[in-house]
Amino acid sequence: MPEPAFLLDGMLGSLARWLRMIGYDSVYVRDAADGDLLGMLGNRSLLTRDRQLAQRAGPRGFYLESDVLDDQLSAVMERFGLSLEREGTRCTACNGELEKVDKEAVRGRVPEGTWSVHQEFWLCSRCGKAYWHGAHWKNIRQRLDRITEGPGNSPR
Ligand SMILES: [Zn+2]
Repeated sequence: MPEPAFLLDGMLGSLARWLRMIGYDSVYVRDAADGDLLGMLGNRSLLTRDRQLAQRAGPRGFYLESDVLDDQLSAVMERFGLSLEREGTRCTACNGELEKVDKEAVRGRVPEGTWSVHQEFWLCSRCGKAYWHGAHWKNIRQRLDRITEGPGNSPR
């Protein structure tokens, strides 16, 4: 079964970044007419805060009731059965796929202190952004753990 892939409309920029963080192909379109969005769908599922638009997308539409990020993320994870196994495989900035690279490949492209203490690095195959497991990653992990604890635990 192919991995779920998503198209997100203008109000869901944060959700798009978080879905990328856990490794799912998520295209975010800030400004587009409804008809254009529907035309771009292909095999993607449309995530939207617009109930009518979700209905127009038929079975590919998914209406998000909440405007709270944690609630949105947990709703999408539950509905599409997303796992955290692919976490860290996709660029949060551009949706490109990350490739693990030799430490030497990122010398000069990441802060010197970061380069000297970390051994594993990834580069976005599309925009070239560098990634490593730092404090940032730990914060992400903690938030995801909170979210996946289940309903009723959403922090505000
Ligand atoms: Zn990128």
